[in-house]
Amino acid sequence: MRTLCEKCKAPDPDPDKKFLSLLGFTEKEMQGRQVLRAVGCPNCNGTGYRGRKGIFEMMVMNNEVRELAFKRSPTNVLRKAARAGGMKSLLDDGKVKIMNGITTPAEICRVTQAEGIVAEAVGGLRNEIYLVSKVYPHNASRRGAVAACERSLKRLGTDRLDLYLLQFIRNHTEDPSRGERRFGFESQCVA
Ligand SMILES: [Zn+2]
Repeated sequence: MRTLCEKCKAPDPDPDKKFLSLLGFTEKEMQGRQVLRAVGCPNCNGTGYRGRKGIFEMMVMNNEVRELAFKRSPTNVLRKAARAGGMKSLLDDGKVKIMNGITTPAEICRVTQAEGIVAEAVGGLRNEIYLVSKVYPHNASRRGAVAACERSLKRLGTDRLDLYLLQFIRNHTEDPSRGERRFGFESQCVA
């Protein structure tokens, strides 16, 4: 997780509601509190961030968690049981770091989404959230993309995505087999 630049960080007069709700902050929790935003200065090369810190979660092993892990239950089921057993999640730790002015809601969203943890926050808010996921180049074939999308749905603990992006790296176009696979995916999108 990137930390805000000490030289230029500033209160955010209008924090992005999309990130706050994605992280599960309620309006009540936000009342009278302030989050900071990335501004940018020479000290941080204009990015608003300088330095990194880890965010952590601790899973307490108990019989239920152990049994679910043994049965290879879906991650979201496992996480739910672990949380009920007192696990402090990455999201919890991230929220503390936002409230302490160490980083921004956008940065915690970025990091926790990469870890597949946003599912937890999405919970009952599914209809209020615009959910985006992406397919990686190595999955960008006709069948691969569908399978990757299914895995995304499972990981995010939801039944649908609002937008699915195809992510590819420029030099993949120079590999003829990749080009062909991507073409297959594009034609599927048109159909
Ligand atoms: Zn700065």
